[in-house]
This record gives sequence, C-alpha cells and structure tokens, in this order.
Amino acid sequence: MTTRTTYRAVVATAPGQLELVERPVPTPGPGQVRIEVEACGVCHSDSATVEGFAGVPYPRVPGHEVIGRIDAVGDGVHEWRVGQRVGVGFLAGEDGTCPSCRQGDPVTCQNPVITGMTTDGGYAEIMLAEARGLVKVPEDLDAAQAAPLLCAGLTTFNALRHSGAQAGDVVAIHGLGGLGHLGVQFARKMGFHTVAIARGANKAALALSLGAHRYIDATVEDVAAVLRSMGGARVVLGTAPTAQGMAQTIPGLSPRGQLVVVAVPGEPISVNATDLIFGARSVAGALTGTVADNEQTLAFANLQDIRAQVETFPLEQAQEAYDRMMRADVRLRAVLVMKPSSPQHP
Ligand SMILES: [Zn+2]
Ligand SMILES: [Zn+2]
Repeated sequence: MTTRTTYRAVVATAPGQLELVERPVPTPGPGQVRIEVEACGVCHSDSATVEGFAGVPYPRVPGHEVIGRIDAVGDGVHEWRVGQRVGVGFLAGEDGTCPSCRQGDPVTCQNPVITGMTTDGGYAEIMLAEARGLVKVPEDLDAAQAAPLLCAGLTTFNALRHSGAQAGDVVAIHGLGGLGHLGVQFARKMGFHTVAIARGANKAALALSLGAHRYIDATVEDVAAVLRSMGGARVVLGTAPTAQGMAQTIPGLSPRGQLVVVAVPGEPISVNATDLIFGARSVAGALTGTVADNEQTLAFANLQDIRAQVETFPLEQAQEAYDRMMRADVRLRAVLVMKPSSPQHP
C-alpha cells in the first residue's frame, strides 16, 4: 500500500491541452480498487476527452489502456487483493440494468463506466477503478507492451474472432498503425490467409514482419482487384481512419464477405449498393469487448507471442505523446510509463 499522500496525474483542461498536476491520493469507494499505474497507452479515442467531444467535462484524466497493481481495495471487494496485477480498458463497468445489459450484452451498455471519460483514467500514477471492470494481467507481460492490448488489441482480436472467418479464409487488415499492426498479428496467428493493406512501398517490410502473407500497396495497386484475384476477402478489418480507403475494399470482398469497421474516419463511408446486393456483402461495426474478452486477448497474445510495438514516454511528456499520436507520428503505439514493471515476489 502506498505511503505517499499525493500523486501526479495529467489532466485535460481545454481542447488539445494537457497539464501535469499533483493530487491527494484518493480512497477507493465501495466496489472500487485503487491502482498504482505501471503504464497507460495513448489511444486515438483519448481525443474525445482531450478535445472535449461528447460532453466529457474538464478537468479529466484521459487514458483507458491501463496496466498496474492493486494498491488498496474498497468495501465489498472480495475477489481482488492488494498486490494483484490488473488492467483497465475502455469499458470498465456496465450498469447491469439497462436493456442491453438485461439481454446479456454489456458491451452495448447504455450507461457504462468509460475509463478516462466518465471517470479519471490512466494518465496518472494512481487511479481508481470499479472492481467489476478489472482485467487480470499475466505477471510475465511487459506493462508497456501489454497496455495497448487492452483496447487496440481487444478491438482487433474480438472483431476478427467474431467475424465468421475460418482458418484459411482471406482476411485483410486495412491500415498498419496502432490497431492494424496488432490486427495483422492476430489474423496470422488465428490461421487466416492474411493480407495487409496500407499506402507506400515502405510499409511492405513491416507488414511481412508482422506475419502478413501478402502486402497490398494501395498507392500503386487496385486493392479490390488484388483481393478478388485471391478469391475475395471474407473479412476486411478497417483500422485506418480513411473513408475512401475503406470503401475501396468493399468490391474486393468475397460473396457474403464483410467490411468490419473499427476506426472512425472524419467523413461518411460511401457504399455502392450494387456491391452489397450482388454478393450479399455487408458493412458492420465492432466495439471492444467485455473484461472476459480482454483477459482472453491478453492470454492469446501471450500464448502466440503477439506484442504491440510501442514508443514509451514518461508521464510528464504526455502532451508530446498525445500530439504525436494525433499526427500518426508514433511507431506504432504511444505508451506512458509511470514505473518499470515490477515482478511480484510473494
Ligand atoms: Zn482505445
Ligand atoms: Zn447497461
């Protein structure tokens, strides 16, 4: 248990502005735990908090890819103990009472705890979290490499495993950034005929090193034609926030193939109805997953040696990390590291 009385946190205070502050160490409320944060990934969704979208109030600590260790438990928390290594992702506590929850679909909960939006997140040395939103984290995972798995990893892993694609099917990952570089690794290890789509010849080596069987350079190749020449993609996972780029893949889908969208472009994705009808193709969205899904993501990544490629920053450089993430100028995922991973010796 920490003996300090204050901790450092980074708060969003105005659109685009992050500020380092010192705060008193809080006491966890009923059903909550306090976490000493080891690392927290910097995700594009943090922009909703930092830029003040979606009514997120200032000041707010962003960050929903949190790896740390439980430091104190609140009343009524019996299933977690001090010293346990845990993660906190984007959805970190369903209400349990809304129509979605009552139908057993907590991922579409209409009133969820969203880390870094409805509560303070992980750009901090200490944070509070709901015990029901915690993810068990294996001791042998490096915090900085594991943090992005809690959001970017879960999003791509869950979307792929629920896509209906089967071993051997052509699955294309559109984009090779923070999400896409994990998507390619998952797709390969799940047994798909894995295609990576990005822009530029200089991405080919990265794509192949991540496990892609085929790289398509969208600047010189006709993406849909290449996919069709392979029999069509059963699934295209859209991880690059470009509406036009995603739309170009739709005629490359196989019959009953699906474009699964997990990135948010600034403009609508235009879809030719003919491409949908003839071939019974579809376009769908996929949203993160449950805490159990997240534990399965970490376990699969650990088992299959799937790692995020990260650039790390100390907490006081959160503004730089955020700005570079927003400019897509990090390789390939920015992570704030508060303290080195500390193996527990019982
Ligand atoms: Zn995220
Ligand atoms: Zn709910």
